[in-house]
Amino acid sequence: MFKAILIDKKDDKQHTQLTEVNESALPKGDVTVRVAYSTLNYKDALAITGKSPVVRSFPMVPGIDFAGTVTESSHPSYKEGDQVVLNGWGVGEKHWGGLAEYARVSGDWLVPLQQPFTPRQAMGIGTAGYTAMLCVMALERNGVTPDKGPVLVTGAAGGVGSVAVAILSKLGYTVTAVTGRQQEADYLRSLGASDILDRAELSEPGKPLQKERWAGAVDVAGGQMLANVCASIQYGGAIAACGLAAGMSLPASVAPFILRGITLAGVDSVMRPLADRLQAWQRLGTDLDIAKLDHVTHELALHDVIRTAPSFLEGQVRGRIIVPVAS
Ligand code: NAP
Repeated sequence: MFKAILIDKKDDKQHTQLTEVNESALPKGDVTVRVAYSTLNYKDALAITGKSPVVRSFPMVPGIDFAGTVTESSHPSYKEGDQVVLNGWGVGEKHWGGLAEYARVSGDWLVPLQQPFTPRQAMGIGTAGYTAMLCVMALERNGVTPDKGPVLVTGAAGGVGSVAVAILSKLGYTVTAVTGRQQEADYLRSLGASDILDRAELSEPGKPLQKERWAGAVDVAGGQMLANVCASIQYGGAIAACGLAAGMSLPASVAPFILRGITLAGVDSVMRPLADRLQAWQRLGTDLDIAKLDHVTHELALHDVIRTAPSFLEGQVRGRIIVPVAS
């Protein structure tokens, strides 16, 4: 038996509890992992609270990411004792995830733990931080370099935002951090933000073309905020869009695209091919200051995850939450 958070549905009502599960109940897969750390991501909070139909089959163990040690493997790339990381692939949505002492997955979904990270540090980064790195790589691919001008990060005090601010500042960009929580201004400066912008300034409907302020942006918000960011990007600039914290809609016009030649680069981390994952994790090894990571991360016990999930959706959580599971 092992400990797991289990989401079940009966009579159309979702029930979530921390419980003991028999190993024979683990799903199919060619690698079994003893999970050292998992994390609480925005999507996990949606799954645990049932606020959005993230979970596709029941019962489900949530947890879209984990780091741990292989205990059994018939996959050619992994053997017992290897340290591995998993992000996405529908784990925690349609395949049992990381908020449990054991996980069984396809070895094709795993990434070997990269230098210089410990499993704890890898989950300090987690899916949010790995997505932040993918966003930065998307900006680079679209020609946004530090000499082109300042860059913007929305939802900056959240998981993706915090890591994006830290990476971009280490790479030499001048970073403006957008936050709805002015009390987090010192925290954001400590991660490397030069300027702090109140979320309210980008939340109202604005003109289709606004003053050209930023060479690029990492956007976790979507909605009206993304529309305003598009309208404020400099000629030839780019936005890496990965989230919907402000909404699914995009009430924008084509003006910045056809008159300023800007690019809106969509970023998905879930189905990303292995080569991109490896590149992102290797880049995190060089482009993220580990000392800053400690600042971003705080621990939450497995038995506190269920009651903490709702506050995550209210934007109350700063940085990254890691969950020690069987460390
Ligand atoms: P998070 O830690 O909750 O951060 C989201 C942040 O967005 C909040 O901390 C808040 O930051 C800001 N925010 C909240 N409500 C907002 C609103 N109404 N308008 C504007 N900003 C708002 O979540 P996360 O883990 O960083 O994830 C952020 C988003 O990216 C989520 O939508 C998540 O689903 C998405 N995501 C996508 C991928 C992918 O593969 N595409 C991967 C990971 C995450 P401030 O308080 O600083 O304003």
